[in-house]
Amino acid sequence: MSEENNDEWKPDEKTIEWAKEHLSQIAVGGVWAPEGCGVTYHKQSEDTYALMKLMEHPSALEHHRKMTKMMEAVDYTVLEGNGVEYVQPPLNAEDAANKEHMHRQEMTQTWTCSGCDFPLANFELENRIDTFIEDKEILSSNGDTQNVEIWTCEITCPKCDKKINIDPDDFHLLAGDDLFMRWTNSEHTRFMALNRSMLRELVDAGGSPIVIGSFSPDTNEKMPPWMWGVCVVSLEAMESEKE
Ligand SMILES: [Zn+2]
Repeated sequence: MSEENNDEWKPDEKTIEWAKEHLSQIAVGGVWAPEGCGVTYHKQSEDTYALMKLMEHPSALEHHRKMTKMMEAVDYTVLEGNGVEYVQPPLNAEDAANKEHMHRQEMTQTWTCSGCDFPLANFELENRIDTFIEDKEILSSNGDTQNVEIWTCEITCPKCDKKINIDPDDFHLLAGDDLFMRWTNSEHTRFMALNRSMLRELVDAGGSPIVIGSFSPDTNEKMPPWMWGVCVVSLEAMESEKE
């Protein structure tokens, strides 16, 4: 991308809305490292982010320019002090990906309620509600367009009752596989995904799992894409079996 295009880039309304919500959720003292961007920011005060780490790579610099514009659009000051750590791009991609994933998981521990600063990690995460937002056409790397479903996970603050919508990927990082791979229908039946050993146990015991398509088998509600093709059991059925 040319320098001119960089200067012309502006965050759209959705990006601004997202930034407002997301950046206010990070507590003062916390860090923000958008995935795969090679840049990390430190939240210094309620209205200031400081550049903390930058990968020595042209696209990281490009991301940093865009993030700065986005943060400034929602009234944050972005500082670029002397303490910036410049990081060499890693040679081992798998190692780097694992490290980044762990780093991102640790970061979720600094996320807080935008209403009262209560940590999101201490919410009752098992009570999330998944909501379908819209179908979106995206351009894939081979040039074809592809339809993806945009969903959001709603969690409620136990302290101030504020409802907070977070991106499903962020919820996954925050709550882990086990809670992410569950789904509750409108009749409060809870389904839980089975891993291979749980599935083996169930089948050996003569039980049969439910395989999820794009709609809930009992209520015909739309299912979120991360549950498609997954084998589940209802938690109620499992609990009654144990008794
Ligand atoms: Zn709250």
